[in-house]
Amino acid sequence: MMNTNKQIVPTPRSRFLRVKCTDCEHEQVIFGNASTVVTCIVCGRTLAEPTGGRSKILTPIVEVLE
Ligand SMILES: [Zn+2]
Repeated sequence: MMNTNKQIVPTPRSRFLRVKCTDCEHEQVIFGNASTVVTCIVCGRTLAEPTGGRSKILTPIVEVLE
């Protein structure tokens, strides 16, 4: 939580995560830095929610894709 650097070099690293919905077990690929709430396309369960620029993943991560 200590960001004292004035200039932080942005790292445009798109990272995708394959996650598994705990409700319906559907596997879905989501963006790791999503700025909006990500929901399961099958049952609508919230899979990730934005927390200040970084996604908080609320469901098990099966695989990290880079
Ligand atoms: Zn689901």
